[in-house]
Amino acid sequence: MMLKTEREKVLKYSVRAFENRLNSSTGGNLSIFNREKNLIAITPSGIDYSELKLSDIVIIDISGKVIEGENKPSSEVGFHTGLYKKRDDISSIVHTHSIYATTMACLNMEILPVHYLVGFSGKKVPIAPYCEFGSQELAETICKNIENYNAILLQNHGLVSLGDSIEKAYTTAEEIEFVARIYYQTQNIGKPCILSDEEMESVLKKFKVYGNKKR
Ligand code: 13P
Ligand code: ZN
Repeated sequence: MMLKTEREKVLKYSVRAFENRLNSSTGGNLSIFNREKNLIAITPSGIDYSELKLSDIVIIDISGKVIEGENKPSSEVGFHTGLYKKRDDISSIVHTHSIYATTMACLNMEILPVHYLVGFSGKKVPIAPYCEFGSQELAETICKNIENYNAILLQNHGLVSLGDSIEKAYTTAEEIEFVARIYYQTQNIGKPCILSDEEMESVLKKFKVYGNKKR
């Protein structure tokens, strides 16, 4: 079996996203790119997360061609391969339809820094204009609008997050869902207080050393 470790991680985080309600049934997709082998382990298209097995994960190359696996790869192969080509700092992508991020996406509102944890994406979470799921246009608009952010909303669709590991990409999806919820709730009550560019600049600097247990 090719890319066994990557398959195991894709399966583990697919199940976690399902159990933590970032995704339901067959919505969303996850992948890991092994840059040394130039191969990607990606979730299959249209298989319910509650039934997903290790052998269901598909191995593709960077052009999207299936190298190993019986299933069709995710219909979003286009943006997974496109983002790996565009961003050489990333090796994993998590796409979710989580409720609050998708709520903001359906309002066509990018997520401003209402809470410092937006720093998992950058100074904000930008939004890519609506294009149909699985289309080349969607892949192109995501690649065009991602810049150096680690997350992007897809208008009327959901969220894509990126990282140099699946742990990072998954955590970003979770933290951005939290920030999206706070942004939604604060706007229901009044006018959210948005952090300044300087405040976010400082947060992003601190994030670089946060969590490093060694003194
Ligand atoms: P796939 O099952 O083909 O990955 O599609 C789910 C999805 O979220 C499309 O955007
Ligand atoms: Zn989707």
